[in-house]
Amino acid sequence: MKTDSNAQISLSIEQAFAHIQQLAASISDFESDIALHQALGRVLAKDIISPISVPPHDNSAMDGYAFHSSAFSGCNDGDGVLELTIIGKALAGMVWRGTVGANECVQITTGAVMPNGCDTVVPSELVAVNGASIRFVHKSLFAGDNRRKAGEDLMQGSVALTRGSVITPAALGLIASLGMPAAHVFKRLRVAYFSTGDEILSFGDAPREGAIYDSNRYTVFGMLTKLGVEIIDLGLVPDSKDALEATFYKACSSADVVITSGGVSVGEADHTKAMMRKMGDVEFWRIAMRPGRPMAVGTLKRTDGSKAVLFGLPGNPVAVMVTFLALVRPALQKMMGANAKPLPMLQAKSLEIIRKKAGRTEYQRGIVSTNSNGELVVAITGNQGSGVLSSMVRANGLIILAHERNDVAVGDVVNVMMFDGAI
Ligand code: AMP
Ligand code: MG
Repeated sequence: MKTDSNAQISLSIEQAFAHIQQLAASISDFESDIALHQALGRVLAKDIISPISVPPHDNSAMDGYAFHSSAFSGCNDGDGVLELTIIGKALAGMVWRGTVGANECVQITTGAVMPNGCDTVVPSELVAVNGASIRFVHKSLFAGDNRRKAGEDLMQGSVALTRGSVITPAALGLIASLGMPAAHVFKRLRVAYFSTGDEILSFGDAPREGAIYDSNRYTVFGMLTKLGVEIIDLGLVPDSKDALEATFYKACSSADVVITSGGVSVGEADHTKAMMRKMGDVEFWRIAMRPGRPMAVGTLKRTDGSKAVLFGLPGNPVAVMVTFLALVRPALQKMMGANAKPLPMLQAKSLEIIRKKAGRTEYQRGIVSTNSNGELVVAITGNQGSGVLSSMVRANGLIILAHERNDVAVGDVVNVMMFDGAI
């Protein structure tokens, strides 16, 4: 880490990631018995131990006829045809209580409890029914076929979900399958954010020459919403000392994390950096990455002495999204109490030459697809300028070109961090 005369600290992306992870402490407060409909996207605060086995009984996976596989050995005629007598009917939700003997079977529906003495089900479509008996060729059928074992999904007493799991739709269903209507989840992480810059317009503002609309507040809103945090939108703050001070004060007193965009690069004339310095313990970084070089990271002091974490993102719209994905999102997940779940990284062949300078990590917007040979290939989305938000809209992943690498040739394999679903 080296400090220059502007008090800007130069870091590699890996160093920046490690520093931010260190700063991110998990929330420990949790909320008990949150109803499942409210628990989607929340983070489990305790392991869920299965109070029952799922399914609770051996049951049929098909509509058909249940019997015991020992019948196979009794079948020694050349064509492998088995004939069994139907002695009952087992319906889902209605247990058939008899016992099935040799050369006998019970008609059964999907999900019905396997009758005593049965371990195999022949599907209806494979049998010919003749009055009270069935005939079928048993060649392709094996002992245990079409039977679901008790506990094959979850065994009673086993860990169904671990603390730190994000409750996905599948997890919601799994918790419900245990007969549990609610879950213990960590308190929602509160994140306040605002945009800064005198050249930025809000909807309804009179257009000014050289001014542009605020897009960062909407990309940040979207990315935070996908993450499942509680959002506190503090708007667009003009470049005035008083307005910034009041907003920083409000942000850190109402949130665990404060995210700003703009005003953190070298030579910024506005008051954002000065206010960050005044209100907390903040470092101004120059990260060897593109886009996203300048970033302010640290803590802001509340009046009671406690602290909120600050991420001062660069102003450029693509830089905001890239720094969020690469650095802020993993930190927020840690603070939410969530287990680390990095975005999937694919290797794909580049369809084009990509210019790259050694000495910084570059994040190019890519479109990954499969070519006619079934190989993953990636193209870049045209103009890679850090203000070109349409390049993010068209992309489905970020091509990550490591610090030391130079230009990419056509056919070179590159790493792509897929972001579909995350943003
Ligand atoms: P800065 O980091 O403040 O120097 O800003 C870098 C670039 O990002 C400038 O071109 C700004 O106009 C632009 N920018 C800053 N904030 C926003 C915003 N909220 N929405 C869109 N562009 C922004
Ligand atoms: Mg600025």
